[in-house]
Amino acid sequence: MRKVHRLEEIVFWHVFDRPSCLRNDLGQHFGISPATVSRVVSVLVEKGLVIETSAEVSSPGRKPQSLKVNPRLATLLGIDIHEEGALAVVTDLAGTLLGRGTVRCDAERGVDEIVSASLKAADAALEDAEIPRSQIRRLGVSHCGDLDIKNGICVSWANAPGWKFVPIRDMLASAFGMTVTIEDRARALATAERRISPEDWGHTESVYFTCGSGIGMGFFAEGRLYRGASQGGGEIGHTVIDASGPLCRCGNRGCVEAFAGIVAILDYVRKSLAAGAVSTLRDVPATDLNLRAVVNATRQGDAVASAALTRAARALGIAVANTVQLLNPSLVVLCGQLALLAGPEILEPVRLAVRSHCVETAARRVEIRLARPKKDVSAIGCALLAAEAEAERILRAKFTEE
Ligand SMILES: [Zn+2]
Repeated sequence: MRKVHRLEEIVFWHVFDRPSCLRNDLGQHFGISPATVSRVVSVLVEKGLVIETSAEVSSPGRKPQSLKVNPRLATLLGIDIHEEGALAVVTDLAGTLLGRGTVRCDAERGVDEIVSASLKAADAALEDAEIPRSQIRRLGVSHCGDLDIKNGICVSWANAPGWKFVPIRDMLASAFGMTVTIEDRARALATAERRISPEDWGHTESVYFTCGSGIGMGFFAEGRLYRGASQGGGEIGHTVIDASGPLCRCGNRGCVEAFAGIVAILDYVRKSLAAGAVSTLRDVPATDLNLRAVVNATRQGDAVASAALTRAARALGIAVANTVQLLNPSLVVLCGQLALLAGPEILEPVRLAVRSHCVETAARRVEIRLARPKKDVSAIGCALLAAEAEAERILRAKFTEE
């Protein structure tokens, strides 16, 4: 958690949370005089924490000064661990992508397999960036299992039954020989999605839904990621919308994920086919029955595929409407493979659900849109979260030097 004791630290985090900000805006934002802005910025620049550049403006005349975090303060590794392997990226402190590497493996084959895939993916990313491992200050890791983030433990992972109470943070710290920051995958993805979407920066209250094999969420309050009392906030996928609904991977019944997760969508299709429903998906080999096939069949008028997506969109709509009602964000972004492949099928039903189920003041305020396709977002989010932890350490060191 960020601890701030002085104005310089407050201004540093303000700069850190944005790709850049105008120096002239600081006075108004914090209610401080130009002289104070000047003093604070001088301290931050002298300590090498932020850099000043001329802002890109099209109008002639003196260009305003822009501030950004010094990207060279640290180089970070970010690794997204998922069911099919590990994706690694190398970034600077500002989250700029310097290299990437990916290694496939089956998470079900065990923890050692994932640790080894993570090491290989990191080596490939470092080679791509032409940076030695000795230069890396910290590793950020995201994982989609049920995490005890404080203690760095994967309590369980629905897609890999062997993962019970795995001390994944310490295992990776010992394998990599560096400090590891672990985070929920949906929150890592939300962090990067927000950072690399300039149109989102004006929305201080925003929600990012990750619609993949499961459903997750990252919520920003006053521009900061909300984590909750035990850092378990945002588990929207396991909120119950039908107590007598289908069994969810978490053991409960009727969770949002049990309708809208890709695993649930494919399960619904398989069960419909097994029950004898007429569908073109019957001709698709079992190994090729994936979300893309279901979306294609829907667009060709297949009733089973269409029913599976309608059911998912309805559940997702209720989840988004409940979130809008509870948190009153001004922006909701739908991310992940479901949003990417089935955007038109889910976006309008979600907007309709918000209009139908939310009070007007909350519904009218909120913009709901699909994420634009981007590469490596979740791993970049991991690196950004590692960058935040590293920035905190650097800041402490710089100000206790005095
Ligand atoms: Zn559940």
